[in-house]
Amino acid sequence: MTQTLPPAFLAAVKDLLGPKGWSEDPEKRDAASTPWRGTYKGETPLIVRPASTAEAAALVKLCAQHGVAMTPQGGNTGLIDGGTPHGEVCVSMTRMNALREVDPFNNSMTIEAGATLVTAQQAAEDASRLFPLSLGSEGTATIGGLISTNAGGVAVLRYGMMRDLILGLEVVLPSGEVWDGLSGLRKNNTGYDLKHLFAGAEGTLGLITAATLKLFPQVESASAWVICSTTDDVVKLLALVRGRVGDSVTSFEIIPGNAVDMVVADIPTARDPMPSNAPWRVLMDISQTDGAYARSLLEGALEAAMEEGLIQDAVIAESETQAKAFWHIRETIPLSKRAYGTALNQDIAVPVSRIPAFIEACNAAVRGVLPTADFVIFGHVGDGNLHYSVVEAAGADAPLLKAKEAAVTRVIFDTVMAYGGSISAEHGVGRLKRDELARLRPPAATDAMRAIKRALDPQGIMNPGRVVTV
Ligand SMILES: Cc1cc2nc3c(=O)[nH]c(=O)nc-3n(C[C@H](O)[C@H](O)[C@H](O)COP(=O)(O)OP(=O)(O)OC[C@H]3O[C@@H](n4cnc5c(N)ncnc54)[C@H](O)[C@@H]3O)c2cc1C
Repeated sequence: MTQTLPPAFLAAVKDLLGPKGWSEDPEKRDAASTPWRGTYKGETPLIVRPASTAEAAALVKLCAQHGVAMTPQGGNTGLIDGGTPHGEVCVSMTRMNALREVDPFNNSMTIEAGATLVTAQQAAEDASRLFPLSLGSEGTATIGGLISTNAGGVAVLRYGMMRDLILGLEVVLPSGEVWDGLSGLRKNNTGYDLKHLFAGAEGTLGLITAATLKLFPQVESASAWVICSTTDDVVKLLALVRGRVGDSVTSFEIIPGNAVDMVVADIPTARDPMPSNAPWRVLMDISQTDGAYARSLLEGALEAAMEEGLIQDAVIAESETQAKAFWHIRETIPLSKRAYGTALNQDIAVPVSRIPAFIEACNAAVRGVLPTADFVIFGHVGDGNLHYSVVEAAGADAPLLKAKEAAVTRVIFDTVMAYGGSISAEHGVGRLKRDELARLRPPAATDAMRAIKRALDPQGIMNPGRVVTV
């Protein structure tokens, strides 16, 4: 339900932020309340857009004084109903997008929270460095949102998740006090490492205004599209490749044959790089500072895998354009899945070694509830992270997936837990998975999270109702 804002609060906010800093326009409020997928809908009485840390701090202080709840928002690309307001004031961070500093010799940069990931990647490139986080929403997702969801993406295998890429943060706490934790230090053992509290907190503990991020040497990649018969072979292939080339494996994605067919049917320009009836493909990148060396490592690894019978066939991209075409297929799967029909999507993780058994058990459990179920299972297999979707073609004779959604979700989650997994690998909790996690997470963990939330946000005004209920 939308909050009724106290007139004194509204007047003070308008005065503080000036005409560019707020909007009550119904269309803009509607857009801010509609997430990327459009699968749920929120509402907000007011959008505010601070332009500096000082403005953000004064704004949060006003919210605290008047007991007004707020939802921080970046690019609104989150997938778990975390950044879409449900009655709260929407604090859009997109005006705070400045690059404050690049320090190539320290391999670090400080950038404001509303800058997009593409802006950060470009700033690193301009300094002949690499900021390695990469994901499908990178043109719109912001640094603040990526930190708050501890985003993953396609290079986690080598560089880790967003949490691993931050050196320091600047955060406005729910009281309005600013914690200036911006630091380019890699070693700093001076008590609790507060930055990790805010990574993955989904805006429930404070408003991130800027971050110092790690930079890396630039690399060149060699990409291969590989055909595999079984998920067992895929897991063994990953072990073989890592055993030979170590951390040079940047990305290792699994793609089922039916997802390639969906993309080719949906996108007129898309071509299957190597048509095959085999059920699985792997899209693999190996990166080195020298591209020719990366290619030779990739060729050697594929030859060894072929000798061991782990792969049916493979093609190495001959150009950057061809590599991009491979990746285009991978990145388009979510949209082409939507064009195909109804999909129930879960972002789960299990230990890599247990992936084959998990897929078999989970598919069987889902078919126990929905015998006609079909599956599209793809994603970051190198991290044990699968985007597990149950799909049903548009115009199916007897559509059942929607009706069975709750039961199907429950058997997926229960199977994930039985395999020592997580029901949210990289997308987060938000409102969508909050209650399921309260059921599945150890009670001691939920209690500790509640205690932290109460300590930092006693009034419960910072993105209430996400991650954990208090
Ligand atoms: C096509 C597509 C592909 C994607 N691929 C991936 C993928 O491969 N891996 C992956 O991990 N995710 C992926 N995502 C999910 C999404 O892009 C990430 O969750 C992203 O990190 C959200 O950034 P955002 O700026 O859009 O944040 P929003 O959606 O606006 O917000 C996300 C959360 O962060 C909070 N928040 C935002 N800004 C701040 C701030 N400054 N301070 C405090 N809290 C804040 C919000 O309150 C909310 O809880 C994908 C999404 C799409 C649409």
